[in-house]
Amino acid sequence: MSLLVIGTLAYDSIETPFARRENVLGGSAVYFSLSASNFGPVRLVGVVGGDFERKDLELLSTRGVDVRGVERVADGKSFRWSGRYEADWNTRTTLETQLNVFEHFDPKVPKNFRDSTFVFLANAEPKVQLRALEQCSSPGFVVADTMNLWIEIRRDELLEVLRRVDGIVLNDEEARMLTGERNLIKAAAKVRELGPRYVILKKGEHGAFLFGEDVRYALPAYPVDAVIDPTGAGDCFAGGFMGYLAAADCVEAPTLRRAMLYGTVTASFCVQGFGVEALEAKKRAQIESRFNEMLEFVTL
Ligand code: AMP
Repeated sequence: MSLLVIGTLAYDSIETPFARRENVLGGSAVYFSLSASNFGPVRLVGVVGGDFERKDLELLSTRGVDVRGVERVADGKSFRWSGRYEADWNTRTTLETQLNVFEHFDPKVPKNFRDSTFVFLANAEPKVQLRALEQCSSPGFVVADTMNLWIEIRRDELLEVLRRVDGIVLNDEEARMLTGERNLIKAAAKVRELGPRYVILKKGEHGAFLFGEDVRYALPAYPVDAVIDPTGAGDCFAGGFMGYLAAADCVEAPTLRRAMLYGTVTASFCVQGFGVEALEAKKRAQIESRFNEMLEFVTL
């Protein structure tokens, strides 16, 4: 089944306790697409500036991502983000966000993308997420992501997004910020009252929860021996989750649980390299092998 993503294509500058890299390929939609394309084709909508390198779009194309929905503003600059991780990996400080071409982005979903059934509104300004969703003719399963910045400065628009989606992906801090509730179980219930039938709560290295009317599921993260850079792990989780659902063309509870497992696996590959480097050459066979390992971890 068809899978559409709208979100950022970016150049990131990242500082970890061990290394620092400038202007590496990133962005919510880039991480999502590279992860989801392991399961089937992905349609991508976003915007870049004249500084966005052709080779980066080619990387996406060679991975089965249809980039015809990526607008290029020749005299503009691409979205840029910089952040720093503390030694515990769970504390991340955004040092700078430059919206650049994203600031006035009015997304145009190409005609041949509009019939997409599975839609992921990756982290982006809520009004951009809404504009993209409005252009989809028959979305069957829509999931959104967001972040603390939008919860703080675009709360009303974000609440509108929540009323229109089937699922939302949040980390623990975002869920608390959105609801004012410290307990995560209560926070998830409050988020569901705002609209989405499903809430996925990510807890970094501690794993992820799925809450819905017909399903409650929890998984630890896959234990990697060395974290190199956690940037994009959330988007890669969402990519594995949505990519698997779209390929299965099903959102029944057992499929949702398997999708959580695939999300856990794709996120684990992401953190094992800087930027997107650990995702570039991933093969489905490696994903299946880690999926089976993960199953062993969590079953008796
Ligand atoms: P994650 O680590 O899963 O939260 O995703 C990190 C990616 O999100 C980076 O590659 C950034 O370029 C991108 N990003 C950071 N801030 C924003 C924002 N405000 N809106 C959209 N994308 C963002």
